[in-house]
Amino acid sequence: MYVLLVEDHADLAANLGEFLEARGEVVDYAADGLTGLHLASTQAYDAIVLDLGLPGIDGLALCQRLRESATGDVPVLMLTARDTEQHKLAGFEAGADDYLTKPFSLPELHVRLQALVRRARGRPQLLRVEDLVLDLRTHSVRRGDRRLALRPAELRLLEILMRAAPGVVTRRDVERQLWGDEPPESDAALRGHVHALRQAIEAPGLPRLLHTLHSVGYRLGREDA
Ligand code: CA
Repeated sequence: MYVLLVEDHADLAANLGEFLEARGEVVDYAADGLTGLHLASTQAYDAIVLDLGLPGIDGLALCQRLRESATGDVPVLMLTARDTEQHKLAGFEAGADDYLTKPFSLPELHVRLQALVRRARGRPQLLRVEDLVLDLRTHSVRRGDRRLALRPAELRLLEILMRAAPGVVTRRDVERQLWGDEPPESDAALRGHVHALRQAIEAPGLPRLLHTLHSVGYRLGREDA
């Protein structure tokens, strides 16, 4: 695998890098946050090992900014000297996939990285329909370069439609996935969510993506698809 190691402690970076390279992995190094972010946004890594405490921007900020970028679905294993639940939670909130507290064993780090990469390969992290992108880990949505703010129900609706795209999802299926066995009596609630989602994702000058098929359901994709 192709790994980016972002660690400002030179000895630790050298030890870790040598250990991984001896096992056939290819390692790039960054000793500060900005270099790390630049490499992470421009190279296609299989995984990133990210130290929390870094000069420039720290590991949390780096991870957050990475998750907002186009290459933001790469697995991140965060390293830290701080062993508190609060730091661990902050790491996961920033989008880290796994976490190790220093000092850690090198073989453990290696197997955890392998597990992250296997998981990432088996599971899509990003859903895309045309220029619309939903990041399933951070729940952020972009259309082109524009970041969209969606409420939870609209986000859920978008995910349902994106997973089925370019296929049609029937109204009944959408209702079942949103409300389970107890859908609202009228279809006003669903129509309200569809309206709000449409307002959020469509914009003048861009191709329309959310289509209503009367008395059938909804479909996401280009008009002609
Ligand atoms: Ca450090």
